[in-house]
Amino acid sequence: MSTIRTRFAPSPTGNVHIGNIRAAIYNWLFARHEGGQFLLRIEDTDLERSTPAATQTVLDSMAWLGLDYDGEVLYQSTQRAHHLELAEQLLRSGHAYKEDKGGTGKGECVIFRMPGTDIGYHDLVKGDLLKKAEDLRDFVIVRSDGSPVFHLGNVADDITMGVTHVIRGDDHVENTFKHIALYRALGAPVPQFAHLPMIVNAQGKPYSKRDGAAYVGEFRERGFLPEALFNSLALLGWSPGDDREVMTRDEMVAAFTLDRVRSAPSQLDMTKLLWMNGEHMRRMDPLAVADACRAAMEREGLWRDGTDMDYFRAAVACMGDRIKLFPDMGHNAAFFFDEEFPYDEKSVRKRLQKPGALDLLRDERAILAAAPDFSPAALDAAIHALAEQRGLGLGDLVHPLRVAVSGTGVGPGLFEMLAVMGRDRVLRRIDRTLSTYAP
Ligand code: GLU
Repeated sequence: MSTIRTRFAPSPTGNVHIGNIRAAIYNWLFARHEGGQFLLRIEDTDLERSTPAATQTVLDSMAWLGLDYDGEVLYQSTQRAHHLELAEQLLRSGHAYKEDKGGTGKGECVIFRMPGTDIGYHDLVKGDLLKKAEDLRDFVIVRSDGSPVFHLGNVADDITMGVTHVIRGDDHVENTFKHIALYRALGAPVPQFAHLPMIVNAQGKPYSKRDGAAYVGEFRERGFLPEALFNSLALLGWSPGDDREVMTRDEMVAAFTLDRVRSAPSQLDMTKLLWMNGEHMRRMDPLAVADACRAAMEREGLWRDGTDMDYFRAAVACMGDRIKLFPDMGHNAAFFFDEEFPYDEKSVRKRLQKPGALDLLRDERAILAAAPDFSPAALDAAIHALAEQRGLGLGDLVHPLRVAVSGTGVGPGLFEMLAVMGRDRVLRRIDRTLSTYAP
């Protein structure tokens, strides 16, 4: 019985693009679903870019996303002697020849001889693919400086690692015909291939840095949860076959099959990613959410010393799904913690500076001062009663009141917000607003 073995084989460059890490996620999900192994190979043969720091970035990104691998990491640079041995073997068997390419006198490279026949294979995502013999050219496997080329190292290492399924980006489809010829010439079993659709932007172009966060580290810095990024990237090209979207890692492992991977490009939609992050936040322990919001605010210098933690937690809960990322608390809910909160000019003009608005606010103050208790239901009833008594719409009372206590026209449900703020704070804030705009 042969077990399934997948691998992630990044070339470390210092950043991990979400397209690459999605390949890692699919390899990981497939291996875990099948009870197989997920291996890691670092293709570190580009000595200029593949620094230890660049490799560490790959390892950190994987650890953060929970992509644990089996066994030891294979560093491709350690396999050089073996790659060159295989090149010798191919020369001996007549599958390769030496040539001074272009007659530059720089020395000879080793060139792989294509078999002269069509090469076809069944891609587990893209279906049957075929390349005609006349479109398959011989190619260099060892450069004139003696260094093995990507194709040789990639195939050699997959053989060494016993990889059964090569799951990688679409950009390697063309290489696959070369690779299959190499496996055959080396007398090694050809693995199965699955090429993943590209991640594209709203214009259908490859998703890049210009489109927004493109690297794992950027999502991490912006406050995304690893569970949410994992979940979002898993759904970029795969679906469980029902309408589930918010899923745990275990649920994805249970549901993951390659036949549900789409071959059409997948569009990355930041709004959707933020929504997903919010959904995963809502599944967390509320105390942990509040702690993480606080930590994010501290990092950005937005945390106010002396903020009461119970009040803070209540405010986080009150913001509910208006918080999609931890740092949002500092950006969208600062008024909760700032008695000197600024007033949004437009909201003031629209809600407080129309005739009679401030008189009405005074009446609301009196009602709130006298409310039997300060629960959302009691406040709701009291303001409703006032609206009815005056023959006004609820909006005529609610909007000015919101601006008076928060300085802005947007926020959580007003009565919940007032209840969290508490009577003293609310009355104090209304007084401040009245003395600012009705001196
Ligand atoms: N180092 C290659 C890349 O990152 C590996 C491709 C593969 O998975 O075979 O594109």
